Amino acid sequence: MKTFDLIIVGGCSAGLAAAINAKRLHPEMSVAVIEKLPRIGKKLLATGNGKCNLTNEYALNHEYVNRDFAQAAFDAYPPQKIVEFFGSTGLLCYADSEGRVYPESNTAASVVDALRFEIERLEIDVFCETPVTDIKKKSNGFLINNEFECKKLIITTGGKSSPPQGSDGSGFLLAKQLGHSVTKLYPALVPICASPEITKPMKGVRVRNVTLTLKGEKKIAQTRGEILFTDYGLSGIAAMELASQAQKYIDNVKEKPFTYIDFMPDMSYDDLVEYLKNLCKIKRFCKIDNLLTGFLPKAVGIAICKAAKLYNAEMRIDELKEKDFRQTAQKIKSFPLEVSGTKGFANAQVTSGGIKVGEIDLKTMQSKICPNLYFAGEIIDVDGGCGGFNLQWAWASGMLAGEVK
Ligand SMILES: Cc1cc2nc3c(=O)[nH]c(=O)nc-3n(C[C@H](O)[C@H](O)[C@H](O)COP(=O)(O)OP(=O)(O)OC[C@H]3O[C@@H](n4cnc5c(N)ncnc54)[C@H](O)[C@@H]3O)c2cc1C
Repeated sequence: MKTFDLIIVGGCSAGLAAAINAKRLHPEMSVAVIEKLPRIGKKLLATGNGKCNLTNEYALNHEYVNRDFAQAAFDAYPPQKIVEFFGSTGLLCYADSEGRVYPESNTAASVVDALRFEIERLEIDVFCETPVTDIKKKSNGFLINNEFECKKLIITTGGKSSPPQGSDGSGFLLAKQLGHSVTKLYPALVPICASPEITKPMKGVRVRNVTLTLKGEKKIAQTRGEILFTDYGLSGIAAMELASQAQKYIDNVKEKPFTYIDFMPDMSYDDLVEYLKNLCKIKRFCKIDNLLTGFLPKAVGIAICKAAKLYNAEMRIDELKEKDFRQTAQKIKSFPLEVSGTKGFANAQVTSGGIKVGEIDLKTMQSKICPNLYFAGEIIDVDGGCGGFNLQWAWASGMLAGEVK
């Protein structure tokens, strides 16, 4: 039997932050991390396209799911403290114009190394290739896999998203074993499946600055940013940020919502009509394929003309009528795609849903159901958008749990 004061199950973002904070604050405690993969921090290597967008300077203003619950962790460990924490491990960071914080090296491996070396320096025991499948509550602590014992336990096994990086949902079973309940789970920050017959001809085309409005019976959500057309629908940050809400609508209302793309969010409909009329003078001898190439990729322009029902490859721009400009402007401002689902947990960056926040003390991350049990990170029902917001939650909640108050 291997016995420790504190064991952390799950050795990635929240778990490593928890372990380091615990050992720094309580050097007398014996601390161990149990990780099912052959190495700790594997998911971090894939974050931020390999650069690891590790927090966001504006996270305190960000709308998370269960924001009120998360506030105490953010008060204790705001983005600036997270940057200082990494600074204390020797890792320097910079922020871009949107507040997204990256390691100065621009490589996620530096973040994993910083955590790994600090774990080694603090002499925290790490057991890799050790999937936890069973946890029993005992009078004086916990028995894990009939192999480990501890007085205090932090579970940081993540959600169900991106299973090759380790988070396969097994942590939810462990939480249930200890008396907790879990909300319905949805893949979040994941590409959406939407009108493939329309998007397929635009496959691989990116549009930089659009708004997407998700609507069912009424407006559900709106995002702004980049989209990428694919053969199944839409990827890109603006689309991925709508995914969990689209899936929730489909599951609850049993209908498919639409997402409406506004390709010119900074121009009003009337100004756009005038602009198109002016374009007609400039390009009057061109074929209709080229009508919108001054501000949109050609394939997108063709799709808009088709949606506006004025597409005929041989048609010349000077054949367009007043109503054609109005119809084209309308489709530029509101291009509809029917959303049929998402690319699922396998392709999701985050899981929306998790252990119910009402069962956890927000000031300590300790279970209200099982004393000396703590949770942190994505396993809890808190999630945010793209931009470093989910790692901010993982570090902040991990460090708070690591205080083991
Ligand atoms: C491709 C990708 C890119 C991303 N990019 C960003 C980004 O740039 N910025 C951002 O803020 N967020 C990003 N995220 C989200 C972010 O990585 C997660 O929100 C965050 O890592 C969650 O941290 P966690 O520690 O709670 O869970 P995880 O990081 O998922 O870690 C859970 C750990 O527990 C281990 N584990 C699971 N079950 C068991 C078990 N039964 N026994 C033992 N060990 C177990 C897993 O192997 C894993 O190591 C990205 C996610 C993905 C998939």
